[in-house]
Formats: sequence, C-alpha cells, structure tokens
Amino acid sequence: MAAHQEKKSAEERKHKSIQNDTRTSQVQWGRAWEVDWFSLASILFLLMFAPLIVYYFIMSCDQYQCSLIDPLIDLLTGNKHLSDIWDKTPTLTYRAAAIYTLWVAFQIFLYLCIPDFCHKFLPGYVGGVQEGAVTPAGVVNLYEVNGLQAWIITHVLWFANAYYFHWFSPTIIFDNWIPLLWCANILGYAVSTFAMIKSYFFPTNAKDCKFTGNFFYDYMMGIEFNPRIGKWFDFKLFFNGRPGIVAWTLINLSYAAKQQELYGQVTNSMILVNVLQGIYVLDFFWNEAWYLKTIDICHDHFGWYLGWGDCVWLPYLYTLQGLYLVYHPVQLCTANAIGILMLGLIGYYIFRMTNHQKDLFRRTNGNCKIWGKKPEYIECSYMSVDGTKYYSKLMTSGFWGWARHFNYTGDLMGSLAYCLACGFEHLLPYFYIVYMTILLTHRCIRDEHRCFSKYGKDWKRYTAAVPYRLLPGIF
Ligand code: NDP
Repeated sequence: MAAHQEKKSAEERKHKSIQNDTRTSQVQWGRAWEVDWFSLASILFLLMFAPLIVYYFIMSCDQYQCSLIDPLIDLLTGNKHLSDIWDKTPTLTYRAAAIYTLWVAFQIFLYLCIPDFCHKFLPGYVGGVQEGAVTPAGVVNLYEVNGLQAWIITHVLWFANAYYFHWFSPTIIFDNWIPLLWCANILGYAVSTFAMIKSYFFPTNAKDCKFTGNFFYDYMMGIEFNPRIGKWFDFKLFFNGRPGIVAWTLINLSYAAKQQELYGQVTNSMILVNVLQGIYVLDFFWNEAWYLKTIDICHDHFGWYLGWGDCVWLPYLYTLQGLYLVYHPVQLCTANAIGILMLGLIGYYIFRMTNHQKDLFRRTNGNCKIWGKKPEYIECSYMSVDGTKYYSKLMTSGFWGWARHFNYTGDLMGSLAYCLACGFEHLLPYFYIVYMTILLTHRCIRDEHRCFSKYGKDWKRYTAAVPYRLLPGIF
C-alpha cells in the first residue's frame, strides 16, 4: 500500500514538473507580452493614419464623386489646399449628435434590458445565456446572446418607420454621414481610452490583463481581456456586434433609399450588395453564440483596435460599396449580376460550412460526422496561467483538411463579389477586398503564431498534416 502511495506521489511530482516545464513556454498564449519593432511601427502607423484613411474615403465620395485620385491630383498640382477640402467638410451637428446618442442608447437598451426570446421559438438558433471559451487565466465568462433579437427589433422599427410612421427619412444615415463620422470617432476614442484607464484602476479580471509597458501597443491592442461593467455589459460583445454590425444593414438600406430618391429606382447592383451583405450580417447574428469562440472574443484584448475599429472603421469602410453606388448607380447586365450572385453565395457557403464544421467538431468533442465520416484529428494539450492542463483537438477532416483557414477563403470570395457588383470604373469599392486580404492573411499568421505558442509541438504535427493556409497547393 505504502509502495503504491509512493509510486503515485512520484508520478504526481513528475506530472507537475512536466506541467511546470511546459508552463513557461505555453502560458504565453494570448496577445503578445513583448513588442517587436515591426508591430510597434505598424501600430503607430495605424494610430496615426487609420482615422485619416476613413476620412479620405468618405470625403472623396462627398467632394470627388468617389474618385481616390482626384483629391491627390488637386492637392499635388496646387489646385486645392488641404484647408479648402477641410472647409468643405460638414462639421459635427447637434442633429447628428442626437441621432448617434439615441442610436447607441437604444442598442445598449436592447443588449442589456431584453433577455433573448428568439431561442424560444426559432428552431436551431442558440441564444440566451451562453458560455465563452476558457481565458488564459482559466475563467469562463457568461454572455447574454441576444444580437439576433436586437437586429430584428431594430429592422422592424426601421421598416415600420419607412412605410408607416414616417418619423424620419430612410435616407437619414446617408444625409448625416459625415457629421455621424465625428460622433463615431468620439465614441471610438472615448471607449478605448476608458478601457485603458479601467485596466489600470478597476480591471474586471486582473489575471487576464496583459501589460507590455509600451503605451502605444497597450492602447491599441488592449490590456484587459474581457472588460465588463457589472455582470453583463461586455465591451467586446457589445462593440463588436452592435452598434457597428446592426448598423451595417441599416446603412445599406439608407443608401438604397437615397438611390431611389435621386434616380427614381434602385439598381440591381445595390440590391446585390444589400442582399449579400445582409446574408453575412444575419449569419453573424444567427451564429452569435459561435462567435464567442472566434479570435475576436477568445484571444484579442479590448483596446483601440476593437473599440475604435468597431465604432468607425467597420461601419464606414465595410459599407463603401453601397456609398459608391449612390454616386455611381451601376446597372449590371443579367449575366454579370447572376455571376456575382453565384460567387457571393458560393463564398458564403464555404465560409459558413467551414465555420460550422469546426463548431460541430468542437461542440461534440469530435463525436460527429463530417462529410458523412467520423472526423480525423490531432490530439493536443495546453496550459492556463494557474498551471492547469487542458486537452483539445485540431480537426484534419472536411474543409479543415483542405487548408488551415478555408473559412477565410470563403469570406474573401464573398468580399470580392460585393466589390465586383460596383463595376470597374473606380478603385474605391475595391478597397474592401484589398483590406480583407491583408486582414485575413495577417490574422491567419497571427493566429498560427498564437496556436504555436499554445499547443507547441502538437501544432507542428497539425501543420505537417494540413500544410496550406488559404489555398490548397498555393498558399
Ligand atoms: P477561426 O474561426 O478560424 O478560429 C481560429 C481558431 O480555431 C484557432 O485559434 C484555434 O483556436 C481553432 N482552430 C484552428 N484550427 C483548428 C482545427 N483544425 N480544428 C479545430 N479548431 C481549430 O478564426 P476567426 O475567429 O479569425 O474567424 C472566424 C470567422 O470570422 C472566419 O470565417 C472569418 O472569415 C470571419 N472574420 C471576419 C472578419 C471581418 O471583418 N469580416 C474579421 C475576422 C474574422 P483554439 O485555441 O480554440 O484551438
């Protein structure tokens, strides 16, 4: 008995020492602790130029019919000075401030005050209180998933107003677009600054905070992992989904209404952009519980990147196609319209199925069927900060056997479809596909770096089994 006890204790000591060995290399998963010069340079560039890029795009539509080149030519030839362009830019107005405040307050109300009822009657929809993933400190947060409901209520009210109540014009967003940009910036900077101060003085979970000591990096990439106010107001879930993504489809509807007002009709390209992006947005809310397991929520800390990005970058730059079509009402021939629709739908199918396969695989712990067969996978392990060892699996079947991020490939196909709907006259609508390619390639590399620090040699076994990232045989 004593011998057995001693053997057991020896085994426990050995296991603990293995844990401690791996701990030093593996507890570093999550965003970086140390900042390399390249990351710092990129962050300083983005902090300085991202707000200017947004301004430049929106201004070029307002003053130059969406030409990206003409403002530059005007400035370089001395035809115009920066001050001329600035003087013509609409300023912040009380009306825009009131619209924006009401909008954000309404979304906060929907988020905090109306528990989800959609999951009670929509078969297959997962809503209500849901668990997030394990954080690096080993915490599992609870979330109230009610985004679909917020989206439906907001859109029902929008249509009720447009067709029945007429409280405001459906072109209201387009008509106040630049004044609203200033409001979105104020909120974006305020929330990022507040998140930074909060992480020093009253963090929600101190163990999940990461300080690099570099002010700019910490401001941009965030310190707190899941900042919250009270039990339920989660900054990441709220700012990621609403007000930006709920607004996305409303912004497109406002552009369609503007086309109708200006030209007496809505073009098929505008309908395509509204439908394809509408599917993407609805997909996001239908799968909001799944979204709790994506990189934004599971791995990114909350800083300017998410705070300002969700308030300004997303609603202003993801909707450029609709804005462009107000100034250039493209009517596509039927063959082109069908081709673009097919590209968008196939891209969406790949995007959704790939995400669905991983979600199903993870939810059932591999006890499911992928393409009619039991999935193949690689067993892996990782540790949280407190030294607890966890086990996980990386699937090598289905789309996950074709490439390590085939969901990004589908997303890129859909993004290309939105751009193609705008024809080939101008560069501006193509910003989205260029941006998404950079974002998703960078995200893919960032995620793989993180997975390597999390899973170590197990990740290497996985990349040997699935050697390509986005395009099988190419990249
Ligand atoms: P993924 O959904 O691809 O999640 C990556 C994580 O999944 C990894 O960190 C790892 O997490 C786990 N994982 C990786 N490989 C496997 C595998 N083979 N089997 C099981 N689990 C695996 O990434 P994102 O969160 O970035 O993207 C989600 C979706 O959102 C994508 O479709 C993307 O296109 C879209 N997206 C859209 C954006 C937009 O702006 N429109 C921006 C960003 C994303 P773990 O630690 O759990 O193992």
